[in-house]
Amino acid sequence: MERRVPPPEPAARAVAAGSSVIRAALALTARPEVISLAGGLPASELIDTEGIRAAYDSVLHESGHRVLQYSITEGDPQLREIIAVRLAGQGLPSNPEQLLVTTGAQQALALLAHTLLEPGDAVVVEDPTYLAALQCFASVGARVIPVPTDDEGIVVDALAKIAVTERPKLLYLVPTFQNPTGRTLPMDRRRAVARLAAERGFWIAEDDPYSELRFRGEHVPRIASLSEAADRTVLLGSLSKVLAPGMRLGWLHAPPGLRHVCTLSKQALDLHTSAVDQAAAARYLTEHDLDSRLVHARATYGERCDVLLDELSQVLPSGSTWSRPEGGMFVWVRLPRGFDATALLPDAVANGVAYVPGAPFFAGPGDPATLRMSFATHDPARIRVGVRRLAQVFTQPGGG
Ligand code: PMP
Repeated sequence: MERRVPPPEPAARAVAAGSSVIRAALALTARPEVISLAGGLPASELIDTEGIRAAYDSVLHESGHRVLQYSITEGDPQLREIIAVRLAGQGLPSNPEQLLVTTGAQQALALLAHTLLEPGDAVVVEDPTYLAALQCFASVGARVIPVPTDDEGIVVDALAKIAVTERPKLLYLVPTFQNPTGRTLPMDRRRAVARLAAERGFWIAEDDPYSELRFRGEHVPRIASLSEAADRTVLLGSLSKVLAPGMRLGWLHAPPGLRHVCTLSKQALDLHTSAVDQAAAARYLTEHDLDSRLVHARATYGERCDVLLDELSQVLPSGSTWSRPEGGMFVWVRLPRGFDATALLPDAVANGVAYVPGAPFFAGPGDPATLRMSFATHDPARIRVGVRRLAQVFTQPGGG
């Protein structure tokens, strides 16, 4: 009889990416009775389904053959022009030749990792940081080096030391309303980071999906707009949080040389991002006033954030601390020592509420007492009910 040979193993880089506990948590919380404060989902009622539908209708009606054809890898020229004008209006001089439209900012991140990093290259990250970025860097075999953070974000002195010892190729930051902590890196640290990048010769990936969702405080300029690091900063942007995540539209804004190489990587990966989605987004942004919709979105998120903070102050065990974001979608909680947010999650879900345990967001040793909550998805009444359900779970350390 013929001997059966087992199929080949998957490539090490596919396995290295690991699975996302957030995706797993979302699956766990699909039951309608569970109030999930876990996922970073924009409020559904803020998504302009009618306006977006009309935009798809018009582009299909007027230029169906064009938008349903293959298109160029760089992305829809009109959409890039609109994004460049928006960025320039926000203080980042920009032109369409610096932009590559991607399938969400997530693809921009994956392209950047693929384009810049050899296995073993050092990438420095804030600790904690965006989980899917850790997966992305792991999948290309990079060495991920955590840098400590405080309430204002990455600690620059620690970064400076690591930059000497590890000679990183890339620093990955979410400087504004960070996922998972909600923190914003102040201007002096942005400048210091930019200077360090220039001195030590590394790239900065500035992942910026949330900065248009500021509901308090003053705008802080992007690192990409600082002269010290403009030639070595790659800005990753997204329409997910301001328009609709399901359209999967994001972009990478980079100096032309790097953008070109990322474009070649994207060509090999998926040829281009959906032309009809790009055209519909361009049409929407031309015919609708996104900025006035954002005024409403910010007010909505600001109110929800206040409600969450207010409830947390009433229900968390004494000794807990939490962030007070000025925008974005997330609050980061640290329970008193001895609590284990991962172990307590099943009890929370059984009680009808979910959050994301914080430990997986750390590249270094995870702090088991931390967790992330989103205030974006639910209305104030549901947020209150959700947090009160937590009160019964966070009564004593440990879980189960
Ligand atoms: N970066 C960060 C920091 C995020 O929080 C997210 C979304 N969760 C992304 C990138 C990916 O966004 P997109 O939907 O544009 O792929």
